[in-house]
Amino acid sequence: MINKNLLDIKNLQVKINEKIILNNLNLSVNSGEIHAIMGKNGSGKSTLAKVIAGHPKYKITQGQIIFNGHNITEMEPEERSHNGIFLAFQYPIEIPGVSNADFLRTAYNAKKKFYNENELDPLSFLDFIDKKFKDIDMDVTFLNRNVNEGFSGGEKKKNEILQMSLLNSKLSLLDETDSGLDIDALKTISNTINKLKNNDNAIILITHYQRLLDYIKPNYVHIMQEGNIVHTGDFSIVEQLEQYGYQYIQSSINL
Ligand code: ADP
Ligand code: MG
Repeated sequence: MINKNLLDIKNLQVKINEKIILNNLNLSVNSGEIHAIMGKNGSGKSTLAKVIAGHPKYKITQGQIIFNGHNITEMEPEERSHNGIFLAFQYPIEIPGVSNADFLRTAYNAKKKFYNENELDPLSFLDFIDKKFKDIDMDVTFLNRNVNEGFSGGEKKKNEILQMSLLNSKLSLLDETDSGLDIDALKTISNTINKLKNNDNAIILITHYQRLLDYIKPNYVHIMQEGNIVHTGDFSIVEQLEQYGYQYIQSSINL
């Protein structure tokens, strides 16, 4: 099995309102890999995830993003999604007036349509999604509720992972998916993510805590600081971070 390059970010600079948020950032991810991104609040982690997914608010002023061999720097977010990029938001939005069932089915069918595959009617979709709900230990009554409306923090995060499991994406960006989860939910979600992981896809996990990475083992851990990846290592840096904080990274960079 040859792991092929899925994501190659070269010399990326990103601005918002003329302020540089990411600068000279390089990141390469192969299929079959799990990358963790850590770093202090405001270091640019969510911006990086949103820029990979194609968020229109951020302006790429230098560099490029290559996904699966194609330059996607200018690509629309919908097209990136169809091509296999999935972003689970740090703060999932509520969509009043749209039922979760309709939302999930529309997202699923949009991708099917893009690939000229059969779309599912509402009843067949319910059959299909029922198992996904059970896998993630979520009550099916959440299908009838409006998207994320009144969901607890943990329920919103589960709903994001549910979307991930529906879309079968090549690259999943999970932005602080562990925040707001109780211990049981963390285990359930981690199990689901581990089941979705295979040699053809890759995952980027943004997190502040070792506990998620105890369940989902990263191949690489990157530390972001002021819009750049300043250090890359393996799981051992997570343990060092837990013990010594970001001071540890600072001192090892300055060596
Ligand atoms: P992290 O996820 O690492 O906490 P973010 O990517 O959310 O960091 O933010 C990085 C920096 O970019 C922060 O200083 C933040 O205030 C700034 N930033 C992000 N989005 C915007 C925006 N829409 N307008 C102005 N500044 C922003
Ligand atoms: Mg963030």
